Amino acid sequence: MLKTPMKKPGIAINAARCMACYACFMACKDEHCGWDTALSKSQPEMGQYWMNIVEWERGDSERRVKTATVPTPCNHCDNPACMAAAKDGAVYKREDGIVIIDPEKAVGQKAIADACPMNAVFWNEDLQLPQKCTMCAELLDDPDYPGFEPRCVEACPNQALVFGDLADPESNISKLIAANKVTPWKGLTGNVVHLNTPQKFLAGTVAYPKELEEVCIGAKVKITCDETGDTYETETNWAGDYEFEDLPEAKTWTVEISFPGFKTVTYTGERTDVDHYVGITYLEQE
Ligand code: SF4
Ligand code: SF4
Repeated sequence: MLKTPMKKPGIAINAARCMACYACFMACKDEHCGWDTALSKSQPEMGQYWMNIVEWERGDSERRVKTATVPTPCNHCDNPACMAAAKDGAVYKREDGIVIIDPEKAVGQKAIADACPMNAVFWNEDLQLPQKCTMCAELLDDPDYPGFEPRCVEACPNQALVFGDLADPESNISKLIAANKVTPWKGLTGNVVHLNTPQKFLAGTVAYPKELEEVCIGAKVKITCDETGDTYETETNWAGDYEFEDLPEAKTWTVEISFPGFKTVTYTGERTDVDHYVGITYLEQE
């Protein structure tokens, strides 16, 4: 039972605010390494990442590379695959939705670790025990704990992690979720809600005829999805660059670039299987 009664305590992870500082990761280690708690055995210092931060490079051209960072602790799933794989009640979901691995009953049950689609459960070879994030429930249940949040949330300097009651529409976390794009990690839903995880981008650069060696500012760029017919428009910026963010994956696009006094340029078959840079377009005078 949480010290602060919440029907569904949860963490919103806003990828748009995460700057890969690893303060949450370190707070998790600080909390869980070196001693057992009421709900878990000690997290080994090496080899386990209960607050796992996934980072990747985005872009298929060195002309446009971006990075993405998403903290991915256990999702405390609505339908936990780890629980389905467990025997003898070794994994249980509390009334408030937090999923706990029982550190006594789970001994020897490697299937629990293998079942998690997020790879959020780590196998402790020495203890023969699957281990994972508890959402610091042992602290939040403790009337003597002076804090009101899991340690990772408390440590985040950039409000990329927000804790609160998902069941209360007036809570800060519910308002944050309502105002942002929900992007379930691996399609999972639960007491952890991912927001603004980067989707795919389509980008390029527009320049005047090559001999002028000058980028074109304010060129109109329109993209149309071949499959859905959706269109998006933008203009090139001070560097002659254009970019469309958060596009759906694995779609085909037609790109149309126009600027007064120059021929319109059209590209077909541009794909968003990966984050894609169309290239530099040199305009030709009409
Ligand atoms: S993310 Fe993995 S470990 Fe966490 S509840 Fe879901 S299946 Fe279980
Ligand atoms: S502490 Fe916050 S900003 Fe830093 S890595 Fe964790 S979630 Fe990202």
